[in-house]
Amino acid sequence: MRHCDVAVVGLGLMGAAALEALLRRGVDALGFDPLGPGAARGSSHGSCRVFRRFNFENPNYTGLSDEALAGWERLARGSGREILIPRPVLEAGPRGSEMVKASRRAALDNGRDAPLLTGRQVNALFPAFRLPDDWDAVVQDGGAILLAQTALEALRAPAEAAGRVMSEAVVSLEHHPDHVIVRTAGGVFRAGKVILAPGPWLTRLLPDLAPLLEVTRQAVGWFEPAQPQLVGRDAFPLFILARSEADIVYGFPDFEGRGVKAAPHNHGPVADADAWGPEATDDELRSVSDALTELIPGAAGPIIERDVCLYTNTRPADRRPDAGEEFIIDRWPRSRLIVGSACSGHGAKFAPAIGERLARLALDADYRAEPCFRLSRYSAFPEDQT
Ligand SMILES: Cc1cc2nc3c(=O)[nH]c(=O)nc-3n(C[C@H](O)[C@H](O)[C@H](O)COP(=O)(O)OP(=O)(O)OC[C@H]3O[C@@H](n4cnc5c(N)ncnc54)[C@H](O)[C@@H]3O)c2cc1C
Repeated sequence: MRHCDVAVVGLGLMGAAALEALLRRGVDALGFDPLGPGAARGSSHGSCRVFRRFNFENPNYTGLSDEALAGWERLARGSGREILIPRPVLEAGPRGSEMVKASRRAALDNGRDAPLLTGRQVNALFPAFRLPDDWDAVVQDGGAILLAQTALEALRAPAEAAGRVMSEAVVSLEHHPDHVIVRTAGGVFRAGKVILAPGPWLTRLLPDLAPLLEVTRQAVGWFEPAQPQLVGRDAFPLFILARSEADIVYGFPDFEGRGVKAAPHNHGPVADADAWGPEATDDELRSVSDALTELIPGAAGPIIERDVCLYTNTRPADRRPDAGEEFIIDRWPRSRLIVGSACSGHGAKFAPAIGERLARLALDADYRAEPCFRLSRYSAFPEDQT
């Protein structure tokens, strides 16, 4: 039986970042995942994600973004690979847009007064756009295209090189007072602690979490731009357009020469981690096609590629104000397990910061992550002892 101090189950962006953080500290850690970077499953696949410094979802995320940025920069230096392509982030919506207000508030809380712009001003700055003149908008700096697959490869590379990745699924965990027995189809491992980061598969290993989680199918498309010269890497921002609070579309410059990647941020239908159904349909991408035609004609055009990816969303907390979609970064009660998952539609950018937290939870008995990430925000779990 092979022993390790910490086993990491699931090596998507979260688990890979945790494993990298552990190995960097010289910890005897092993990672488990039947899939490698590039497998079109789960939540971390595909070439890119949006990195934002100022987050309309939660103004307290700025510190997490800054910590993650330092992690991404360290990874880029260490691997010699480009991980982030800096780009401004344009957020816009009809006059009074709550998203624009929240994004500006997040910047202001962190000492940056991002001016309120009109749609007309945005159209002058970025000629691919045709926003209504009276829309509210903000252009935030500190954003970047996160090269997600490159990041995943770079995070996993040291573990792969050191023979610390087991390319197998964990099928069961057996709990003992001072260790956990981790079983795969081909082996048995004894671990001091186990970090669980299996993304949308989390409830397979922790069925008690099922009432708090929802996995949804998210369609993604690449659109052949009508005016390619206006939507290239240096001319066009990352964008998030909220036509209403329930109709949000986001997208990227055409930095790969394969079209403008754009997708709805609204939750798609509930999905099973192993059974997603067909590739993204025209209907699922209709709100995106319509938004591009109406609001970014320079980026509009036929769909040339499609993908499906999964969000794992948490439900709103009942012990603290929380609209849901917060992450879970905590110890599982009365066990040697640490849970790092449910990273919803906005976790990728934070992976190095989340990985650090997961590593510290495994190594430092006195450490807890921020209250908004703890299980104690739900009344189904013990309250924090003060
Ligand atoms: C369409 C889409 C767009 C997104 N856009 C953004 C964005 O712009 N910005 C942003 O910050 N975030 C974004 N996100 C969110 C972000 O991508 C996710 O939060 C993140 O990828 C979650 O990573 P994960 O490691 O938790 O899960 P996953 O990537 O799903 O990794 C889980 C891993 O666990 C493995 N696994 C499962 N079961 C087992 C087992 N029993 N044993 C061993 N291994 C197991 C799986 O094989 C998988 O590799 C987006 C997500 C989607 C779906």
